[in-house]
Amino acid sequence: MIDDSSLTAEMEEEESPATTIVPREPPKIQRLEESVVNRIAAGEVIQRPVSAVKELVENSLDADSSSISVVVKDGGLKLIQVSDDGHGIRREDFPILCERHTTSKLTKFEDLFSLSSMGFRGEALASMTYVAHVTVTTITKGQIHGYRVSYRDGVMEHEPKACAAVKGTQIMVENLFYNMIARRKTLQNSADDYGKIVDLLSRMAIHYNNVSFSCRKHGAVKADVHSVVSPSRLDSIRSVYGVSVAKNLMKVEVSSCDSSGCTFDMEGFISNSNYVAKKTILVLFINDRLVECSALKRAIEIVYAATLPKASKPFVYMSINLPREHVDINIHPTKKEVSLLNQEIIIEMIQSEVEVKLRNANDTRTFQEQKVEYIQSTLTSQKSDSPVSQKPSGQKTQKVPVNKMVRTDSSDPAGRLHAFLQPKPQSLPDKVSSLSVVRSSVRQRRNPKETADLSSVQELIAGVDSCCHPGLLETVRNCTYVGMADDVFALVQYNTHLYLANVVNLSKELMYQQTLRRFAHFNAIQLSDPAPLSELILLALKEEDLDPGNDTKDDLKERIAEMNTELLKEKAEMLEEYFSVHIDSSANLSRLPVILDQYTPDMDRVPEFLLCLGNDVEWEDEKSCFQGVSAAIGNFYAMHPPLLPNPSGDGIQFYSKRGESSQEKSDLEGNVDMEDNLDQDLLSDAENAWAQREWSIQHVLFPSMRLFLKPPASMASNGTFVKVASLEKLYKIFERC
Ligand code: ADP
Ligand code: MG
Repeated sequence: MIDDSSLTAEMEEEESPATTIVPREPPKIQRLEESVVNRIAAGEVIQRPVSAVKELVENSLDADSSSISVVVKDGGLKLIQVSDDGHGIRREDFPILCERHTTSKLTKFEDLFSLSSMGFRGEALASMTYVAHVTVTTITKGQIHGYRVSYRDGVMEHEPKACAAVKGTQIMVENLFYNMIARRKTLQNSADDYGKIVDLLSRMAIHYNNVSFSCRKHGAVKADVHSVVSPSRLDSIRSVYGVSVAKNLMKVEVSSCDSSGCTFDMEGFISNSNYVAKKTILVLFINDRLVECSALKRAIEIVYAATLPKASKPFVYMSINLPREHVDINIHPTKKEVSLLNQEIIIEMIQSEVEVKLRNANDTRTFQEQKVEYIQSTLTSQKSDSPVSQKPSGQKTQKVPVNKMVRTDSSDPAGRLHAFLQPKPQSLPDKVSSLSVVRSSVRQRRNPKETADLSSVQELIAGVDSCCHPGLLETVRNCTYVGMADDVFALVQYNTHLYLANVVNLSKELMYQQTLRRFAHFNAIQLSDPAPLSELILLALKEEDLDPGNDTKDDLKERIAEMNTELLKEKAEMLEEYFSVHIDSSANLSRLPVILDQYTPDMDRVPEFLLCLGNDVEWEDEKSCFQGVSAAIGNFYAMHPPLLPNPSGDGIQFYSKRGESSQEKSDLEGNVDMEDNLDQDLLSDAENAWAQREWSIQHVLFPSMRLFLKPPASMASNGTFVKVASLEKLYKIFERC
């Protein structure tokens, strides 16, 4: 309620000051004392001990050091000491060394764009002196002794003292945040500051492999980071992150050039499918500067999640080089973040390179030679003259230590499983199909990952690659999803063209291709209620039938359902092992594979899927069998329109309650009470199903297509993509209007 007391506020001020708002005189603006300004600024640059270490180490690198050692006491709060063997600091620079904005690295603004040093703001040392006690000991080349001097609040506490010194500079930062009680208290309670410092130096050590780093706690004999100068980056990673990381890395490289020369290049190492970790480690350097980039991190994680079955997070080291003028390093006080020109394009290039590398890694897998031998001997013992005992030449039979790993790839089949099983023997009894031999031997290997080496699957994947239509690939990779035009077609824009894209066809193909790529590597979706196969198949048969209610036909359907159930039970082991379709001993379907993360298929289509497995798969031939099952899965997981009609159009009729009374009612009252006549539960199910599908199309299908789909040439002519307009023409029409 508004009363008029505000009008009389001034008059009443004396009587009831507590209830009225008193307009104040404008406060006077004052200049902050310089020491206050400096301390506030210092708090931004030096947020915690690790930020001080980073600044000091960067200074040492800028001073051309080849050895940097760090000693830390009490998480850095008591002492941070960084010693280097760099060029040192001149005696005459001491008075201004720790003043704000004094630097030897920049003289004018333009220098920012040609800068090759880490520092340039001249703030780090100054900041430290406002929040800690700083002592510098240094010697320059040709001097017989060094100097030591301490600083507080930007100025020297005394004249520099001559002292003995070894080459380079040592900076001691003591009692960090002694004058910032709140910050010191929060930091004292957190135990992980030393961990952060170790992490920082580990990252620095692998990039600057021409510098040796060490980091230890004060008083400790053993260093927690210890790297030696090594020309091989992989060696540096091994010495810092350990053998378990280094042995599971693959090299990646991308570069892109334009007319003016190379504009971007990246090289690094990424973990392969054998690497297991709960947290992503992305060690990222842009123009030799350690930075963070959450967009790139997310982009890489997406590729890993979509390509590898295990829920492992990757280890990634990347060094990106860009023209200096494309990188703005001046957007963050500690230069932790940088801003890049064309960031999205760069991320996409990296993403697709990582994806290609991961996929190709399927062709190059790590085998334990002993296991291979075990299979071989088992097979051999089945039948001594069986052709599987005809080892391909070059197969070793002598014992090999368990830890000896052999690399094999598709161009060199020796050592690969199918090499033992081919060529197909003449004397092998026909009923032992090559598939069952492959299956049983693969099972003995226990490690399902390696089964993806089956040549038939590789052939199917190669088939997908060779049918790919380059123009469509370009369109799919670069198109933007606009929205759904109807139940089946999405409107997409590519350059200045608009297309209608059939999402059912596209998703079916994508699911098929992903099934092949994830072959034997699936994560599983557990069904909450295992579903009996025979009932589901019967349901599907009845749905297919145009003339239901015919009893004799029903008998037949039941028999067909039984036969199909038997067949699938027989194939259960294979379906489970290769496709993660689990049928339990009582012939219930209980698990399905994850084909794309964040997507579960429409369970209303399970009956159709099972019928399709039973009817359409050619089980006897290995390649056709894998193709048939993958196609059935592809069709099942495709983003079909939900079975309930779309309530947002004419489909709404479907949800009206079909009872006489309601029919009469609506006839009498017209459409006024339409709402009352709708089956609200069914309607909300339908609305959910349609909304869910649209979400999946936009957020799962299109992003995944961009990454993985190799559109077959047939899609160019079968109506999957229809060009509807070009924007230039549309604009012309609008101009005329
Ligand atoms: P910036 O690095 O931005 O120039 P700093 O406050 O970090 O500012 O350092 C100020 C200056 O002190 C540097 O420009 C450099 O000349 C000198 N300096 C600091 N640390 C070292 C070191 N370890 N070795 C040689 N010179 C150093
Ligand atoms: Mg600096």
